[in-house]
Amino acid sequence: MKTPNFFVDYDTILARIGALDPVQYARSRNFLDGHISYLSPFITHGVISTKTVAEIVLQEHKVRDSEKLLAELGWREFFHRVWQAKGDEIFDDLRSPQAKVTDFKVSTNLVAANTGIKAIDQTVSHLTETGYMHNHARMWFASLAGNIAQTHWYQPARWMYYHLLDGDLASNTLSWQWIVGSFSHKKYYANQENLNKYTGHKEHGTWLDIAYDDFDVLEIPPVLAEREALNLTNEFPASTAQPIENSAEPVLLYSIWNLDPTWQSDITARRVLWIEPDMHKTMALSPLRWRFVTHWAAQIKGLEIFVGSVAQLFPAGTDGLEVITREYPATAHWPGKRDPRDWLYPNTQGYFKNFFSFWKLAQKELPGLRKLHQPHKS
Ligand SMILES: Cc1cc2nc3c(=O)[nH]c(=O)nc-3n(C[C@H](O)[C@H](O)[C@H](O)COP(=O)(O)OP(=O)(O)OC[C@H]3O[C@@H](n4cnc5c(N)ncnc54)[C@H](O)[C@@H]3O)c2cc1C
Repeated sequence: MKTPNFFVDYDTILARIGALDPVQYARSRNFLDGHISYLSPFITHGVISTKTVAEIVLQEHKVRDSEKLLAELGWREFFHRVWQAKGDEIFDDLRSPQAKVTDFKVSTNLVAANTGIKAIDQTVSHLTETGYMHNHARMWFASLAGNIAQTHWYQPARWMYYHLLDGDLASNTLSWQWIVGSFSHKKYYANQENLNKYTGHKEHGTWLDIAYDDFDVLEIPPVLAEREALNLTNEFPASTAQPIENSAEPVLLYSIWNLDPTWQSDITARRVLWIEPDMHKTMALSPLRWRFVTHWAAQIKGLEIFVGSVAQLFPAGTDGLEVITREYPATAHWPGKRDPRDWLYPNTQGYFKNFFSFWKLAQKELPGLRKLHQPHKS
């Protein structure tokens, strides 16, 4: 598995987008060595938007050749529309309770990369080392944790979110729920044959080497039986900013979800990345992820970092200050005026109970984009 360096600069990201071949992407994205973009850490942190990605790709490629990539970018926006509409409800079973739950703790051997299934163990090790996991591997992992080990999705999702450089509260939470059937109409399973096909492994005779019909009656494999409670903590970066009592200039409040170096770049302002510890208490981030955040914060000229509560950041309140931030569900309680985010499909506001209904509306914004026949995820 080769994962590119994520600690680069903005121009490198633009060059990577320019080098994307959407036809190749559509053909190979399900394979672990397929031509995928690896853009998710940058998109998650708002360094670039889905709209920018699409605009650059469509400069060189036709809409109809880019359909799959445009739809996958759509999945991200779909999840964020659901989050905007449902708020914190996405952190619980959204459409129906997860069926067949026998435990809430993660399987020790799953997170220790010790299941005996190579495709799983290698991709789990890769995640904890690099902060990246291929989409198909995420689906397998979530299926093993939620459907085969019969664990409620929330704790293993927390574990995955902690390690991912692209950990995104909506995409992660709702993808897990899509796999376990609490935000979809059925559970997703993959057997050894499927793993072999997309990884190139040739493993046979493992406990996953069964027919799809057998998943309904599969007992929890003994290797997944041992459980552990998670102990995930944050190592926040140090504050570089003083509390803000007054400012003649507008105060631009950045969050870790908006590290866009082009945001309001033409105005003179006090720029502060505000890290609110409470926000990351239940969904902690790995030390690598915090390094990634400070790396991208450092690319924004004059950006200071403040770690603390609202009362610590604005000890005298915000009256008399011009505070500007960017719309984002996790920071809905922040003070100040909201700039909109850049959406690829801006006309898709509201709640969509599945991707299909979202996509029906979204694709109207892309003339020439053919209708997808099946709303599927892999
Ligand atoms: C259990 C599970 C957990 C996931 N957790 C996250 C997460 O925390 N953060 C996250 O960004 N994605 C998450 N995904 C979605 C998907 O796996 C990643 O977005 C994708 O693997 C990122 O790699 P890439 O940038 O090379 O994607 P590409 O395939 O190159 O896609 C381009 C972009 O489209 C978006 N995208 C692609 N596929 C999906 C998808 N299925 N759902 C939503 N957006 C998508 C991403 O922004 C991605 O960067 C999760 C999927 C599953 C099954």
